[in-house]
Amino acid sequence: MTIPAEFVQQRQQKLASALSAAGLDALALNPSESLIYLTGLHFHLSERPVVGIFFPEADPWIVLPELESAKLAGLAYPLQATTYGEDPASWPQRYADALSGSAALKIGLEDNAMRLLEYRLLKSALPKAKFIDATDVLAGLRMYKDSIEVAAMQKAAEIAETALSAAIAQIKIGMTELEVAGILIQELFKAGSGGELPFQPIVSTGPNGANPHAVPSERPLQHGDLLVIDFGASVDGYFSDITRTFALGKYSPEQAHVYNAVLSANQAGHAAAAPGAACQDVDRAARKVIEDAGYGEYFIHRTGHGLGMQAHEAPYIRSNNPQPLEPGMTFTIEPGIYLPERFGVRIEDDVLVTPNGLRSLTTFPRELQVIGDK
Ligand code: ZN
Ligand code: ZN
Repeated sequence: MTIPAEFVQQRQQKLASALSAAGLDALALNPSESLIYLTGLHFHLSERPVVGIFFPEADPWIVLPELESAKLAGLAYPLQATTYGEDPASWPQRYADALSGSAALKIGLEDNAMRLLEYRLLKSALPKAKFIDATDVLAGLRMYKDSIEVAAMQKAAEIAETALSAAIAQIKIGMTELEVAGILIQELFKAGSGGELPFQPIVSTGPNGANPHAVPSERPLQHGDLLVIDFGASVDGYFSDITRTFALGKYSPEQAHVYNAVLSANQAGHAAAAPGAACQDVDRAARKVIEDAGYGEYFIHRTGHGLGMQAHEAPYIRSNNPQPLEPGMTFTIEPGIYLPERFGVRIEDDVLVTPNGLRSLTTFPRELQVIGDK
């Protein structure tokens, strides 16, 4: 999908103010979610370096391979461009040409995105420049979703739920975790997900469920197991991320007890999340329920993470994060209990902070369902 130019320009204007406020003369991005966010342009990371440069008071600039310059045709906002040919020996000079007029001395980068390839070219073009991590500057923009981002995320949540309903109707005891993962992926695409998924679906049963990041295995689904499914869809580059835990054929009183503790923690997380509450308050509210139920040591991860163009982004819903929640923020609430070598339970929702409170983008039933016994 092309992002309407007025949205791109709005984001660039906000970036310009944020760069000034942070005392940065420029921001340099190589192909990344942030570059898509700020330009609407999609580039792959490849052996050919691409850098977008943004300034507080000038039009953005992009350095790109000649063969990709068609992507700039018909852009509805100003973007200066320098292109280069196929001989890597010419690239440093082209980067120097592009930046020769720039007074940029303090340049922001994304620590976890900028590669050595592009960094070296920037450094040789601007030998006096200082490079500074600007991850927080970008997070400060991308944390607040605009209306087209929220619409894409809402749709991604609906697609994941449609796929989940269709998949659980097909799940049978005796199938392997991998077979279930295959069904989920097929149903995601049937329901309209984009080709890029936030991560490989997690399908874990019995003792495998005690590992929050289990990889689907050849283990067959067994009567009396709990089944954890954690997956998501994409729409226009925006992700959903949902987890539900099911009982296969039956459940024991202990499984139900643990399940209900996680469900109450999930509800407490929803109740605590509102404008003005801090990320750590949401984590504390969910964690307290699990601690009070006696399983505190088995809730081994943060309560949630921001969600958007990346499956994990700011804000992080963890202890010691005083970041206040504000309208437009989207994140997960996903408490869990993991009993080593026995079983695990996680219930994960995607939520949006609204001016009046919270809206859950995921609404799939949260009560313990028995499936697979047909
Ligand atoms: Zn998840
Ligand atoms: Zn998650």
